[in-house]
Amino acid sequence: MAAFRQHSDYYRIRIGDAEWAGVPVLEKADVVAVPVADAPDLKDARTSGTSGFQVTIRNTAREREFRRALLYRPQLFYGLPAEVNQVVFVDGAGCATATDPPKWFDYGGTTYRTWFCGVAGNPREIWRLLITLRPQLVRGIASGIVRFVESVDAPLKDIGVRIVAPGGEYLLPEWRRAIEQGFRARVLDRYGSTETGAIAWQCPSCGCYHANTDEILLEDDADGLLATPLFVSSQSLLRYRLGDRVHFDTDVAYCDIRLPTLTIEQARRDDWLIDGNGQRVSPLAFQFEQVPGLLAWRLHQAADGALQLYFDAEQAEAAGPLLLASVGATVPGRQCELVPGVWRAPDSAPFAGKFKRVSSELTARANTPA
Ligand SMILES: [Zn+2]
Repeated sequence: MAAFRQHSDYYRIRIGDAEWAGVPVLEKADVVAVPVADAPDLKDARTSGTSGFQVTIRNTAREREFRRALLYRPQLFYGLPAEVNQVVFVDGAGCATATDPPKWFDYGGTTYRTWFCGVAGNPREIWRLLITLRPQLVRGIASGIVRFVESVDAPLKDIGVRIVAPGGEYLLPEWRRAIEQGFRARVLDRYGSTETGAIAWQCPSCGCYHANTDEILLEDDADGLLATPLFVSSQSLLRYRLGDRVHFDTDVAYCDIRLPTLTIEQARRDDWLIDGNGQRVSPLAFQFEQVPGLLAWRLHQAADGALQLYFDAEQAEAAGPLLLASVGATVPGRQCELVPGVWRAPDSAPFAGKFKRVSSELTARANTPA
C-alpha cells in the first residue's frame, strides 16, 4: 500500500486512509487515468479489448523481462529437452517459414527457438512450418489453434508435438479435446491477460491451475477477479478488475508445486464468425488495434450472416473506412454495417454479454458449453 501511495498522487488520493479491502476497485475504463512513472525504456502494448474496451499498458524493459519469465514458468515442469523448437499462434494473418530466423531465448536451462504464425494464417502454410520444424511445444491463442486443427486437411499426429499450451481465452472442453486429438499431444492451458501478465497455469503433475500468487496479488471477488501485479512499478495496477469469474480452490490437491490453485468459471471467450464462403473466422483475427484513435469496438453477426460493427473512436469519419476495409479482408463475402456507439451492441445472452467482444448468432449455440 505504501508503494502505491508513493507511486503517484492518483493512488495517494484514491487510497486515502482506506484499508486494503476499502481501496476502490480499478475498472478497465480507469486505466487511462493511471499515471505512468517516467522511464526511458517504456513500451506500449494494447489489450485485445475483450468486453469492448481496449486499454494501453506500459511496461519498462525490466518489467517485460519479468512478464516473460512468468510466461515461461510452467515450462520448467514440462520435461522438455535442452533445445526446444516452439511455434506460437499470435494475432494476425501472417505465417513464418522454416527458413526465417527464429527468436532465441534461454530460460531455466533450456534454449527456445521460436517461430510465429497468425491465427488467421493459411492453414497449409502453418502445417508446412510445423512439419519442417517439428516443434516440441506449440503455444498461443486457443481459438486460433482450434481453427487450425479443424481446418487443416493434413495429419498432425506425426509432427511430434509433445505439449500444446493454449492461452488468451477460456478453453472450452471441446476445444481441449479437438487440440488433444489433432496433435495427439498433452494440452496444458494458461490463464493470463495483457494487463497483468501470466496469472495461472495448468500443472503437468496435478492438472490444476496454479496461480502465480507470489508475483500477483489475486482476490476472487464475486463480481470478477481482482489482480494487483507486484512486479509492475511504472504503470501500477491496484485491485484491477479483469471481469473473469474465478475462485480459489478450497481443497488443495497434493502437488510439489506449492502455489495455490484456482478454477476458472467464466472468462473471456468470443464466438467464431462464419464468412461468405462458410469458413470459420477466429474472433482474434482482427487487427483493429492498428486503427488510430479507436477506443472500443464490438462485432456482431446476425443469423443471416450480416455483420454489425459497433465502435467508438476519437474521429469516427477517419476510423470508419479503415474498420470496414479490415472487416472486409478478414471476413470476406459478408455485408458489414458500421454503428457508432459500442453501447448500442446487443447484450442479450447468449449472443453477447460481458465476456464477448465478437458475437455470432450463427455459432453462439455451438460454442456454448454444455
Ligand atoms: Zn500441481
